[in-house]
Amino acid sequence: MSTNIMESINNNIIFNTINNGIIILDEDLNILAWNNWLEITTKLTSEEMVNQNICEKFDYINETKLKRKIKSVLVTNNSAFYTIDPHEYLIDIKVNTIIDKIYESMQQNITIVPYNIEKKQVCLYIYDNTKLCETNYKLEKLNEKLKDLSNRDPLTHLYNRRYFAEISNKMLSLALRNDNNLTIIILDIDKFKSINDTYGHSVGDNVIITLARELENNVRDSDLVARFGGEEFVILLNNTDLDNSVNIAEKIRKKIEEIEVKDDDNILKFTASFGVAKYDDNLDNGKIEHTITRADNALYVAKEKGRNQVIVDL
Ligand code: GH3
Ligand code: MG
Ligand code: MG
Repeated sequence: MSTNIMESINNNIIFNTINNGIIILDEDLNILAWNNWLEITTKLTSEEMVNQNICEKFDYINETKLKRKIKSVLVTNNSAFYTIDPHEYLIDIKVNTIIDKIYESMQQNITIVPYNIEKKQVCLYIYDNTKLCETNYKLEKLNEKLKDLSNRDPLTHLYNRRYFAEISNKMLSLALRNDNNLTIIILDIDKFKSINDTYGHSVGDNVIITLARELENNVRDSDLVARFGGEEFVILLNNTDLDNSVNIAEKIRKKIEEIEVKDDDNILKFTASFGVAKYDDNLDNGKIEHTITRADNALYVAKEKGRNQVIVDL
């Protein structure tokens, strides 16, 4: 008798033209109906699938969980969402687009609804959710990218001043908790205005970019380098004492002396001045900005003393 009803469903026009998957199951997980959408997407025919146990056919389905869910739908006579972790599909249907493919398998939303309470039969609706998942995934990636861009200076791609302020304060809290040293190096290109005036602004930009790369190459991943202003840069050194910080500044100063920026036939050389200060509880009152100001004062002294040198604020 039930075969007759199922036969008519398996031949029903709506059942077979709707744009999502429909499976009718009994409480033992036997397939009673398998619609045309599923035939097309899985390439498994209704003849092959009807009277098969869905979990025997697809061994990755969590049988205990599906049975429990079906039972609850039949007991409450209410429909329910069926969430599938970790792969987000009930039936593995491979996505066949080649371009921009994010998911190997169709991402599915599953709803289970009561079909025939007396006969303990339910209906499973399978919706293709891949497009939405892909759009969400791309949006997430784009947001991450935008967030990173907003933290960086467009010319050098180094972190900008605002981000440096945000992160350096977090790094200070951490350093204070772990009783670690934190030092600041500030550097500023010497007579940069005359580089711009002599060679032009775009050569000046090249000098700034070259210097940015040099700075990145001379600090550890745990340190923080930022472009603080026009031709002024700041480095926060983690867990480095003052002597070592001065050595690092001195090493960078010498490397900058070696840099050659080419402009047509000319080879341009430049220097920079440095100020170094170590965070000090007594002087800085828990504020890294105060350490930065002391490093900046030392930089000013370096400029006064004739440039191309490292001065420490003690
Ligand atoms: P000092 O040795 O005292 O630092 O002299 P200076 O000429 O380097 O200092 P000053 O602050 O007088 O000049 C900085 C110049 O940097 C002025 C400004 O036009 C230029 N500048 C700022 N940002 C940029 C930039 O992004 N690209 C270029 N090419 N120039 C910039
Ligand atoms: Mg300068
Ligand atoms: Mg300057």
